[in-house]
Amino acid sequence: MASTHAIKTDVVVVGAGPGGSAAAYYLAKAGVEVYLLEKATFPRDKICGDGLTPAAVNELALMGIDTSNWQRNLGLEVVGGGHEIRLPWPAQRSLPDFGMACPRMELDETLARAAAKAGANLVEGVLVKELKTDATGRVNGVVGFKGRGEDEERYDISAKLVVDAGGVAARLAISAGRQAAARRPMAVAARTYFRSPLGDTDWMISHLELWDGKPGESNLLPGYGWIFPLGDGLVNVGLGSVSSNKAATKLPYKQIFGAWCANLPEEWGFTEENQTAPLRSAALPMCFNRKPQYADGLALIGDAAGMVSPFNGEGIAPAMQAGRFLAEAFVLACARDTQSGFDLAMSAYPQALRNQLGGYYSLGRIFVKLIERPQIMRACTKYGLPRPALMKLVHKLLSDGYERSGGDLSDKLIQTLTKVVPSA
Ligand SMILES: Cc1cc2nc3c(=O)[nH]c(=O)nc-3n(C[C@H](O)[C@H](O)[C@H](O)COP(=O)(O)OP(=O)(O)OC[C@H]3O[C@@H](n4cnc5c(N)ncnc54)[C@H](O)[C@@H]3O)c2cc1C
Repeated sequence: MASTHAIKTDVVVVGAGPGGSAAAYYLAKAGVEVYLLEKATFPRDKICGDGLTPAAVNELALMGIDTSNWQRNLGLEVVGGGHEIRLPWPAQRSLPDFGMACPRMELDETLARAAAKAGANLVEGVLVKELKTDATGRVNGVVGFKGRGEDEERYDISAKLVVDAGGVAARLAISAGRQAAARRPMAVAARTYFRSPLGDTDWMISHLELWDGKPGESNLLPGYGWIFPLGDGLVNVGLGSVSSNKAATKLPYKQIFGAWCANLPEEWGFTEENQTAPLRSAALPMCFNRKPQYADGLALIGDAAGMVSPFNGEGIAPAMQAGRFLAEAFVLACARDTQSGFDLAMSAYPQALRNQLGGYYSLGRIFVKLIERPQIMRACTKYGLPRPALMKLVHKLLSDGYERSGGDLSDKLIQTLTKVVPSA
């Protein structure tokens, strides 16, 4: 016999990726009753480069995650325009001077378990299919299903706040009529894993140009590539391309990936025999492409709200930051007596996102418009990479590694730039 769980709670978070788990963690820590529903069962994979910038490392530290066994890196090795340079992560007051990489199979389970340990009710294997609304259309819960047939369990959950943290599919946000903005950047990227001697090295490698033969003497392929060491002789290798609007570029990824890899040093071992997973692709929604991030009882977090950085394709740190901001807004909103007071206090959540990333992502939109043209990208790498002072600034800009206040000249310049553009 199918059974129903009728639950009344404070918050229901749908999706236990980095965004959902961080939100559930901070809510539970603050004493809020929260359900974290995940359609998969852990460990589960997620198509990703597995790269963690210092900003992501900070978010992990704030959640008290033990990362002592994860592969650390010292910075980025950038290849392009005939140059090969190393850009160490800068030592900053607000950020550590190292990054990391951790397979999502491990990262996501670790974060979900941390949320559960903090007191969140993590329920795996529940696919949420619908939002519940009251007579005024305000969102006040979800309905999800676990199992099938006779064993099916129905989760009918009522909550003061529903959070769509379901990733790029944004199923709940779409059902509430929140469509993705057409004129925000979107990327598509594909990745796989190889056993390789690069697996235990200290640098994340980024290829800004992909060639199907000798660089400069063969054909330039569209997109950019990465090689991220994961430790234990394993690397995450992928490539992607970005477009300045919703119509993401449709590249023949397999073909380009094959041509690029065939051209990389043989000793790196990027061969079929060393490949441990298929090449798989997914979209990266960017620059807050789905809004509002909070309205009428429904909040959006991470990819569901298009929070990926247009500068480097990083979505883990912004999703986790959003979870932190959301929890803080909710706790304060609960102290209000009226629904309008609650909603007003909840508007601190989109405001916090704007403060942290609004101007930065607006700059990112300009950046994407430039680099989506291969000739401009080539000119930038050719003439920009050999200039250390410029690259220090660019590195901080691309990795969201700048101080929000104070700092050196490069930090201050980025702060000024983010203030002169209208917030995303
Ligand atoms: C190829 C590629 C490479 C990338 N590389 C990097 C990188 O190196 N570093 C980086 O920071 N970012 C990277 N990103 C971006 C990053 O993967 C995402 O931005 C990040 O995962 C967003 O986290 P999230 O919590 O919003 O969503 P997700 O991680 O997508 O998690 C969503 C969760 O919700 C669950 N779910 C969905 N719908 C439902 C439902 N209806 N009911 C219940 N559960 C549901 C899913 O199973 C999933 O567990 C990359 C992305 C791609 C595609």
